[in-house]
Amino acid sequence: MILLGSTGSIGVNALAIAQQFGLHVDVLVAGRNIALLNQQIQKHKPSVVIVADGVDLSSIDHPRVFQGEEAILEVIASSSSMLVINALVGFAGLRPTLKAIECGKRVALANKESLVAAGAFMDISKIQPIDSEHFGLWYLNNSSRPIQRMLITASGGAFRDWPIEKIQEATLKDALNHPNWSMGQKITIDSASMMNKMFELLEARWLFGEGEYDAVIETKSIIHALIDYCDGSTTAHIARANMQLPIAYALMGQTDQKILPSVNLLEVGSLEFREITVERYPIWEIRQELLHRPKRGVVVNAANEAAIELFVEGKISFLDISKQVIHAFEHFDEEPKNIEDVFHIDREVRHYVRSRA
Ligand code: NDP
Ligand code: MG
Repeated sequence: MILLGSTGSIGVNALAIAQQFGLHVDVLVAGRNIALLNQQIQKHKPSVVIVADGVDLSSIDHPRVFQGEEAILEVIASSSSMLVINALVGFAGLRPTLKAIECGKRVALANKESLVAAGAFMDISKIQPIDSEHFGLWYLNNSSRPIQRMLITASGGAFRDWPIEKIQEATLKDALNHPNWSMGQKITIDSASMMNKMFELLEARWLFGEGEYDAVIETKSIIHALIDYCDGSTTAHIARANMQLPIAYALMGQTDQKILPSVNLLEVGSLEFREITVERYPIWEIRQELLHRPKRGVVVNAANEAAIELFVEGKISFLDISKQVIHAFEHFDEEPKNIEDVFHIDREVRHYVRSRA
């Protein structure tokens, strides 16, 4: 396999699955965590390594090491491996996803920003999502019974129990304090704002087609997805909050082996469901409109990435992230007609958001 983002939260879990099942890792791609990358090289013995920055090239213990996006695209084309795991973060993951599909390779896709921004212009049949909610929906959706609604769950993120008026004072450190999952910085911020769940609804729309999709908070993150059937039955996917299960299926399609211990329902005791409200999660206001015109995901994604950068730089507040996204969503009404438009709109929206800060 070709693993993009090997030193991140998903990347590390993907390597654990690769090791458990003896899968060969041909290419490792990482950003700046060189110490961890060198350990991974020693253990997995890839034939090629790629890093983000040229200054790190001499610190990598490998004879074939390259740098930057062009090198990533080239290795996707030239490697004999037919599986690309895309665990990069943000819009930077889009070109590698497109390249892998163009080369006829299978993509195990954690990089949800690819789908959110350009789902309309991708061959979805080549994509296996790495996300607990979409894995849950896929796992449940194996009958021909007519479906009424597909539901995914949210943890509620760092501020789910905060008094609403206090959220305007939230710092970066507060936003990174996730109750149930240990993940990279950007997705943890997206969980706190509920942007992550809006992205996942959009992803579900591209992956499973038109239909009714919604989300609800389940505070323990052991139910990941539910399906309401037309007959009045509801089924739920229950598993521990650990990404190795969706990763194992995305890499291998099927497995008969134990990936996680079962959930002990007596230890869980009780479950709590809450509504996602606009008062606590202002971004939720645009979800119906976005799902109605899903190609506008590129605007929301670009505005969100630019606003998160400003928040991390200390230039805007946490709640300003949602305000900036909603404003950009109203300001940019156009939909991309092709993939070139996606890159063009992405640039324009980022520039706009930064210029307003
Ligand atoms: P992390 O921030 O933990 O990891 C990102 C990875 O990308 C790191 O290996 C990082 O390298 C690498 N990277 C960043 N910039 C570059 C670059 N310019 N060139 C090469 N490599 C780069 O993120 P996560 O693993 O949490 O998330 C990855 C994706 O998966 C996101 O899109 C997220 O939304 C999605 N996802 C994550 C889940 C989770 O549980 N974490 C669940 C579902 C989806 P380095 O660290 O060395 O700088
Ligand atoms: Mg998820």
